[in-house]
Amino acid sequence: MTRLSGHLRNAGRPADQVLAELRDKRAMDARWQDGKTFGLVYDGGAEVHAIAEEATKLFLHENALNPIAFPSLGSIQSEVCDWTAELFHGPDTTAGFMTSGGTESLLVAVKAARERGKAERGITKPQMVIAESAHAAFHKGAKYFGFDVAKTPVNDDWTANVDAMEEAMTENTVLMVGSAPQYPQGVVDDIPAIAALASSIGASCHVDACIGGFVLPFVEKLGRKVAPWDFRVDGVTSISADIHKLGYSPKGASVILHRTKKLRSYQTFIFDDWLGGFYASPNMQGTRSGAPMAAAWAVIQFLGVEGYLELTRQTLSAADQMRSAINAIDGLRVLGDAEYHIIATSSDPQAEQPMDVFALGDALKERGWHFDRQGPPDSLHGTISAGNEAVVGQFIADLQTAADQVGASRVEDRSTTYAALE
Ligand SMILES: *Cc1c(COP(=O)(O)O)cnc(C)c1O
Repeated sequence: MTRLSGHLRNAGRPADQVLAELRDKRAMDARWQDGKTFGLVYDGGAEVHAIAEEATKLFLHENALNPIAFPSLGSIQSEVCDWTAELFHGPDTTAGFMTSGGTESLLVAVKAARERGKAERGITKPQMVIAESAHAAFHKGAKYFGFDVAKTPVNDDWTANVDAMEEAMTENTVLMVGSAPQYPQGVVDDIPAIAALASSIGASCHVDACIGGFVLPFVEKLGRKVAPWDFRVDGVTSISADIHKLGYSPKGASVILHRTKKLRSYQTFIFDDWLGGFYASPNMQGTRSGAPMAAAWAVIQFLGVEGYLELTRQTLSAADQMRSAINAIDGLRVLGDAEYHIIATSSDPQAEQPMDVFALGDALKERGWHFDRQGPPDSLHGTISAGNEAVVGQFIADLQTAADQVGASRVEDRSTTYAALE
């Protein structure tokens, strides 16, 4: 068997050599520090990095598996959940946990809905109703936890088609999902309508605010109109929000909140018949790093509401400028009427010469800009955040040159790339 990387050495190597090689490995990585990536890294600025790095170092070795041994992490978790619950207008009964990210938050939301359906309605063949715009992690959850999935279409404006969701409901429906906003085009679903359908049959309604939870509350405080999506909407039973996205903390931090402790109890796993002793676990992990939890706590404390308002202002300013620049180019258009931080750029079928956006993406890549290809329909996805504001002028100039270069040309490769294996 040949292996590219050879064998593990018998003798260890000097630390400076090892670290130098690690640094070298990053040479070809996306240059998020230049503000030219969208969505993979969220850059809250040098001061935010500094405090996140300090907090990470402090808690790098702590283990949240056992908050009795590390009460610090127990309090970090409950404080982060309490702050988020307040931000989302949760009632006093709101209770949650931190997880490692949006995917894990969605997986435990799916698991909780299944347990609730079984306990309260005797359902053994759980089914979920989700729009085709709902995040792929719901499908992952369906596979992991044995759900049937009813995948329903979206409307012309890319929001979930609620009539189709209603038609897809069965007596086994235990979970209905709305997104705030959905990832592909960045629009907020009709959460009140979806939540009302779910609650009419005693099913759970999860709002996936993984990418919007740390944006929409601040957009609202800035005075823009935001469609109802949080715990103020009756029938919403749980909400997920990723701190490691527009909460600007390093990777490994998300929050899942349930309207009541009782609803949260369906998420946890408890086993008391093991030679190793009592085992209680809030999410998918066992051993669980304290570092991202502490970093998230520190970043939220450091920024405060005012810090987030400023980062949100920068985000919206960058996104609005980029949207108008894209819409101003003949052959291109932004999909949907997204108003927040997500931009999906597509070819404009009404233009005399619709542009191939994948060719455009390649031309932008030559200039260092990294957008994800997505589809259908073929489009370039950008999640804008505060770190992009400083380079908006450069983006607009590069966009114009790239568009001129592409003209009527097309590229062969039509593959899309949200996440990949290797
Ligand atoms: C990013 C995202 C997720 C998944 O979160 P990860 O942190 O990447 O696991 C889920 N839902 C939405 C809407 C997202 O944008």
